[in-house]
Amino acid sequence: MTRDAGPNSPAAVLFDMDGTLVDSEKLWTIALDDYAAHRGGALTDATREAMVGSNMTRSMRMLLTDVGVAATEAEIAAAASWVAERMAELFAGGLPWRPGAQEALRRARALGVPVALVTSTIRSLTEMALETLGRDSFDLTVCGDEVDGRNKPDPEPYLKAARLLGVDPAACVAIEDSPTGVASAEAAGCLVIAIPCEVPLAPGPHRVLRDSLGDVDFEALGELFTRAA
Ligand SMILES: [Mg+2]
Repeated sequence: MTRDAGPNSPAAVLFDMDGTLVDSEKLWTIALDDYAAHRGGALTDATREAMVGSNMTRSMRMLLTDVGVAATEAEIAAAASWVAERMAELFAGGLPWRPGAQEALRRARALGVPVALVTSTIRSLTEMALETLGRDSFDLTVCGDEVDGRNKPDPEPYLKAARLLGVDPAACVAIEDSPTGVASAEAAGCLVIAIPCEVPLAPGPHRVLRDSLGDVDFEALGELFTRAA
């Protein structure tokens, strides 16, 4: 479904969700802290930082370890369900946009190339977030429970999005906020626009660092490939 969008456009624009488009990482912190308290423990800052951009199963394993509960499959499933329910309550209160995100979605759309959401968040919560983000903003959404457990930092979420869109991942721009997400997109071969939210990001050969989505020149994304080459 590649469309002719001119020489300065990538084959597709692939957006991460949490921390990139919406400021939901702070809501995840609330839900994770609540679960830790519910189990009589506390989530350490280091563990919370390591979870940013991660998927539910991996995050629950870290959370249970932090609160001193053996991370059996049953405990992981129960924790995931508790946290998902708490997140649904928090998402229902409305999601705060990251600076420049609404305009970024509009400008990405105006390029005439496919736009996808590639998130580690599970489908049920993503569907709630899409009420804020707008279903029409994306041609495709890939969620954390739709990649056969091969979550970010594995390249599979981005590879799957490119596969379903019928585009070369190396010709795609991915926009990410976390080290985990940036690693996933880079491993898939995408050029990454890295905009840190909760965790600092280091420079790298296949990434372009920006302070905000408002600093991204969507009309000149193609030029980034020339510079990164
Ligand atoms: Mg993120």
